[in-house]
Amino acid sequence: MAYDRSNVFARILRGELPCNRVYEDDYALAFHDINPLAPVHALVIPKGEYVSMDDFSAEASAEAIAGFFRAVGETARRLGVVESGYRLLANTGADGNQEVPHFHVHIFGGAPLGRMLKKIERH
Ligand code: 5GP
Repeated sequence: MAYDRSNVFARILRGELPCNRVYEDDYALAFHDINPLAPVHALVIPKGEYVSMDDFSAEASAEAIAGFFRAVGETARRLGVVESGYRLLANTGADGNQEVPHFHVHIFGGAPLGRMLKKIERH
């Protein structure tokens, strides 16, 4: 899948749309989700153009991958959820219900999140 530069996270990265920023460095931008599903719900996106986790893990440099995941950890620290705990989620593709085609990791926390997923049968 080709990267679509009109996606909403690309527009946030270009400064065309606002975001409530939590953290930023050379590799990543982290901001609060516009429609939070938990008391703490933030998104961390790489600065490079990657459609999904699949694209990012296959195409990004080792430096970009390390920088991105260090930024995820730093974002969680800044959100104050390390001691209480948190959950990461990277929706990927259709079955993953990915809506925005720019790789992103969700950080959820601020309350007990329950088990990871309701059991679902194979399609
Ligand atoms: P996905 O299903 O792609 O993993 O989730 C995309 C997430 O992006 C959703 O949780 C949605 O609320 C969030 N989102 C979509 N548009 C915007 C926006 O313009 N600003 C922010 N901060 N979050 C957005």
